[in-house]
Amino acid sequence: MCEVLPSLSGRLLDWYDTHARELPWRVPPSRSGAEIRQDPYRVWLSEVMLQQTTVAAVKDYFRAFTTRWPDVNALASAEDADVMGEWAGLGYYARARNLLKCARIVSSDFGGIFPSQRDELQKLPGIGPYTSAAIAAIAFGQPETVVDGNVERVMARLYAVTTPLPAAKPELTNLAAGLTPDLRAGDYAQAVMDLGATVCTPRNPACGICPINDACIGQRKGIAASLPKKSPKLPKPIRLGYAYIAQREDGAFLLERRPPSGLLGGMLGWPGSDWSENPDEAPPFPSDWQPLPEEVRHTFTHFHLRLKIHVVHVSLRSQPGIGEFIRKEDFRPSDLPTVMRKAYDLVSRLGNDV
Ligand code: SF4
Repeated sequence: MCEVLPSLSGRLLDWYDTHARELPWRVPPSRSGAEIRQDPYRVWLSEVMLQQTTVAAVKDYFRAFTTRWPDVNALASAEDADVMGEWAGLGYYARARNLLKCARIVSSDFGGIFPSQRDELQKLPGIGPYTSAAIAAIAFGQPETVVDGNVERVMARLYAVTTPLPAAKPELTNLAAGLTPDLRAGDYAQAVMDLGATVCTPRNPACGICPINDACIGQRKGIAASLPKKSPKLPKPIRLGYAYIAQREDGAFLLERRPPSGLLGGMLGWPGSDWSENPDEAPPFPSDWQPLPEEVRHTFTHFHLRLKIHVVHVSLRSQPGIGEFIRKEDFRPSDLPTVMRKAYDLVSRLGNDV
């Protein structure tokens, strides 16, 4: 098969056949192709989870999701709160909301079968240019070019592209497209990603064992490790906020579900202020709120957050008029997004009987 492919692609495929990473969502190259096709549901789910997140962080979530919801119809029937709870800690919660929307559309409008063409996939919620290419190539063998950070790094080094990212993206995509074969496009996409993840690594590329080192211009010029160049990032602004943790005398916690859109949309959280330069410090209801001496620090994509925590114990008759009390036996910190869990951990550590 490889004789008809461009030589670099063929060599990468040969390398992939023996060095592919074992990943819970992946059909190994020895069994892919005519024998066993990749399951589009598992490809889609893994690719959505992998957006902005590492393979190591995703593995356990992927196993939990596919155990609980083994196919797209099962996921489409799930309760929103269950999916958001299972997603908690993975971050970028708009992905989970779009995941559910997408599952429901595929289940209701497509009979539970994902479309195979990239342009059709891209019409579905949460599926952008990268994810549509990945699903089309990996699940359906379409000759689409998949470009993630690993692929960008390999292309920048292979062709010694010194234009900094993100300006270099179109050029790197074109170079990657020029190598994409018509056959085994899905395996090829995964081969380049695996090469970037395991050999052509960000800091110390292992050029000595690289299957395409004789063609690598970056290596020949001695500049591979410095590529890709990146435009300097602007420092992230710091935002402030307040969170209020109320515990009833029976141990129940007052929690609120956040609005469906926006940061942490649809997730459970502690009542609190907006997050800005000058947040409104007013508590959600009048009580004997006590500030904690430490604050929670958390970094989002676009800003650092410093969250000041106030705590209070209230009576069984307390009716704050917001959120709802979750009984202590029903409360699972793992259902909270990371920043909210950090607040809970801080209160626990500081011994406020929470
Ligand atoms: Fe990356 Fe080195 Fe291989 Fe070039 S030779 S692609 S720099 S690992």
